Amino acid sequence: MEKEKLWKSVVGELELAISPTYYNTFFPGTKITKVDNKNKSIEVMCPSKISRDTIASKYKDEITNLIYKRQKEQYTISFVTSNKQSNDNKPTSPLFSSVVNNNNINTDTSVKEDVKKAGNKVGLIDDYTFKNFIVGPNNRLAYTVAKSVADSPGTTYNPFLIYSNVGLGKTHLLQAIGNEIAINRPDLKILYCTGQDFLNELMEEMQTYRNKGGTLGRFKAKFTNNDVWLIDDVQHIAGRDTTQEEFYFAFNNLYLNKKQIVLSTDRHPSEIPKLESRISSRFSMGMIADMQMPDVDVRSAILRAKAKKMKIDITNETLDYIAENISTNVRELEGAFIQAITYSKAMGVECNVKTVQEALGKTIVQTFEKNVKPTKVVSEIASFFNIEVREIKGKKRTKDIVKPRHISMYLLKEINQLPLKEIGEILGGRDHTTVMHGVEKVTKDLENGDFRLKRQISEIKEVILTKK
Ligand code: ADP
Ligand code: MG
Repeated sequence: MEKEKLWKSVVGELELAISPTYYNTFFPGTKITKVDNKNKSIEVMCPSKISRDTIASKYKDEITNLIYKRQKEQYTISFVTSNKQSNDNKPTSPLFSSVVNNNNINTDTSVKEDVKKAGNKVGLIDDYTFKNFIVGPNNRLAYTVAKSVADSPGTTYNPFLIYSNVGLGKTHLLQAIGNEIAINRPDLKILYCTGQDFLNELMEEMQTYRNKGGTLGRFKAKFTNNDVWLIDDVQHIAGRDTTQEEFYFAFNNLYLNKKQIVLSTDRHPSEIPKLESRISSRFSMGMIADMQMPDVDVRSAILRAKAKKMKIDITNETLDYIAENISTNVRELEGAFIQAITYSKAMGVECNVKTVQEALGKTIVQTFEKNVKPTKVVSEIASFFNIEVREIKGKKRTKDIVKPRHISMYLLKEINQLPLKEIGEILGGRDHTTVMHGVEKVTKDLENGDFRLKRQISEIKEVILTKK
């Protein structure tokens, strides 16, 4: 049998027999590179060291048998990687050890040192606790599950994913889970990081890797050598192959070892653009809870708790007034509260409804006066949809590009109030009638109750108008 066919049929049969998680993690990209019929040996090339090590240790016998069944002769199977160092006898990578042995074995001493230096909790801020998280109908499910995860990590809800618009308490809850576990289970190692952190560290590590040679072992160990992994705003890993690949490894590794994974995203995983489906389906394997904007009672309660903590003397009437008037998100609610207090202090007056009106009146004016640059509008839209600005300006007419392009036309008109002709010029030299069609399309879809579009536009506007 030809080597390609032989391997295809071997892994085909193996795929039916083993867990899909293992199969999808370790087998894609493997192939037979050499068949030596004289010495009866076969060489299998694996895409990475971890794949080689895992396959060699867990599936060698099965693969040998499957090949025997087809070739009717006993072959010796060897596993290599395309990496030049594949044939050395270095200890297996830390990532691999923990997958296979299900504990924290770590043969690399420099990694151990790193871990020791960092302590048992990385990235946690004490301020965010369950105690100072106000619960209401808008976030009760997320809160309840978060508590339960903190009480017994790695058991019932794994992974646990929270999603919501910005400023509604995702970071707070992730941090609270970490802080609670740190107190109750000081034996557990906890890592909090953002999707962006993951991406940045990987880029840095790859740079070093390219310059000096070596492996990604240290990087892998940092993310897999944990009992609890809290990844905030994980949507940022979307769109880049290597990042998603490494994330997938880390995720599966922890998951298979029954380590707790908690994720947050700014929207439902199925709506994250350019996120590989194998990853979004993993996000959905455990528990998903969303959070909404709290109603006015919960908003008042949040402010009361805040005032109490800061020992600020302020009437409930004043707090209610702020709560009634700020309905974008909790971060802005807190911001308005602080602004009102700072304002009245600076003016040397009592903080009451009247001073709040003055202070917040200023906020609103500032928001609209803010001169948002058209380039910023377009770049925020591109980044929201995980595409490049040049794609918006370009010629491609696929659905994933056309929608952001139409939204750009719409928002450049609405926010910047630019003439259609100018919008066309900004967006890659398009005709003003094209722009008009784009604006009309979005307007019509909104009128027809396209809920998803409405939400996307309001999220984009929020980022554009609030980000400095
Ligand atoms: P996100 O990560 O979803 O953007 P954050 O967790 O950063 O939002 O929340 C923004 C601010 O609002 C934080 O200071 C957080 O403590 C506060 N906050 C959000 N929700 C609540 C809540 N239910 N109770 C108390 N504070 C909250
Ligand atoms: Mg956050």
